[in-house]
Amino acid sequence: MAERKGKILIISAPSGSGKTTILKRVLAVTPEVVYSVSATTRKPRNNEVHGRDYYFIGEDEFVDGIKENKFIEWEKVYDYYYGTYKHVLFDVINSGKNVLLEIDVKGALNIKKQFPEAISVFIIPPDIKSLEERLRNRRTESESDLKKRLDLAVHELGEKDKFDYRIINVDLETAVKETHDLILKIINKEN
Ligand code: 5GP
Repeated sequence: MAERKGKILIISAPSGSGKTTILKRVLAVTPEVVYSVSATTRKPRNNEVHGRDYYFIGEDEFVDGIKENKFIEWEKVYDYYYGTYKHVLFDVINSGKNVLLEIDVKGALNIKKQFPEAISVFIIPPDIKSLEERLRNRRTESESDLKKRLDLAVHELGEKDKFDYRIINVDLETAVKETHDLILKIINKEN
């Protein structure tokens, strides 16, 4: 009998929607799911760790990776490259574990095309105003980066109906519970 492969879960949300906070909380109590660490050319923020949050690599290394076909998908988001390594994704699912990709909307739709059985979830911020507030309070982006993130957020919100499930993050505790319940439902479903 063929080994059972792990499932692919994709989570997307505009920058500032609270996605990272929600996912950290959910992943801490969901050992059945392995977080896929992406590569990026963005500089690490204060609390970010290489190999845990991202593989922080230089632009040359990223572009070489593209040429060498190391990425299952990659995008230029804002001014930086972000990509999912093939080996990260396949190592997890081939070992029978479920993998969670936290990637942008374009990347999510790309993965869905390559793996139609993957399940996609979109986290919706309550409104643009609160999204802007969250981004500003984070104080990690320059004013021009912030503007780019807000513009992209508006565009990404328009794509939410292309996802299998949507969760609205009005209240953090509720969003964490809903995301956790949904992930358990998806990974425990037959097939
Ligand atoms: P941030 O810089 O805030 O960590 O991430 C910026 C955006 O890049 C987010 O929408 C995040 O989901 C997306 N992202 C992170 N990793 C990947 C990846 O491997 N591929 C794609 N396509 N997007 C990614």
